[in-house]
Amino acid sequence: MTEKYNKIKKIYEGKAKKLYTIKGKPDLLLQEFKDDATAFNAQKRGKILNKGIINCELTTFIFDYLSKRGIKTHFVKQISPNEMIIKRLKIVPIEVVVRNIAAGSLLKKTRFKEGHKLAKPIVEFYYKDDALGDPMISDSHAIAMKIATESDLKALRQMAEKINIILKPFFLKRRLRLVDFKLEFGKDKGGKGRIMLGDEITPDTCRLWDAKTNRKLDKDRFRFDLGGVNEAYAEVRKRITGGK
Ligand code: UDP
Repeated sequence: MTEKYNKIKKIYEGKAKKLYTIKGKPDLLLQEFKDDATAFNAQKRGKILNKGIINCELTTFIFDYLSKRGIKTHFVKQISPNEMIIKRLKIVPIEVVVRNIAAGSLLKKTRFKEGHKLAKPIVEFYYKDDALGDPMISDSHAIAMKIATESDLKALRQMAEKINIILKPFFLKRRLRLVDFKLEFGKDKGGKGRIMLGDEITPDTCRLWDAKTNRKLDKDRFRFDLGGVNEAYAEVRKRITGGK
């Protein structure tokens, strides 16, 4: 029998997703993916055709793939083209960015040119705070602000590195280069449980380049008005899920 999930209350609406509580299931939430796109701290706004459906489908596929390889995630199941059930987590307010190839904000912090293959992947922490513009922080900032413990940070770094090791060949088999990506983590059981992967993994949160031509197939097409935004998302979907 298929279970029914009745939305009760919207508890969060962000740039790309909404979260709802579910009747009778306090440990779960319903995550709805939207077509809205924003960039540069929401100064630029728009819509990407079918993005909600594509990102829900891709996150379902990738989180399922990761969990089969030992990564704990919040994903429970997809219930409609753009909705999934997730475990309710207390989010650690740190965005973990992993980089394999120089691009984006790294070009402003180093002398690397776009496309430079990094000798070793870089892992960075950013403090999730829109008013501050999500500044980059070190371990000691996080500990001083009491947003994570030393062992939380160790777990974040280890999980991010392991996810990168799993996803690099995953994307390459699908003719996509995983340039960089952002992860978010949280703890279940009201923040008392174990750290697990939350949020999404999509062309909104990853830089993906065609393995042969290096054509950008991610949100940079929207950020920098490169054109072919809808087509890029559709292409990534085709290469990963076959468009189902
Ligand atoms: N990213 C994200 N959300 C953010 C910031 C970054 O998903 O709020 C992703 C971004 O899509 C890219 C990676 O994290 O894949 C690294 O982003 P970067 O630091 O280069 O910043 P950006 O150039 O996006 O400002």
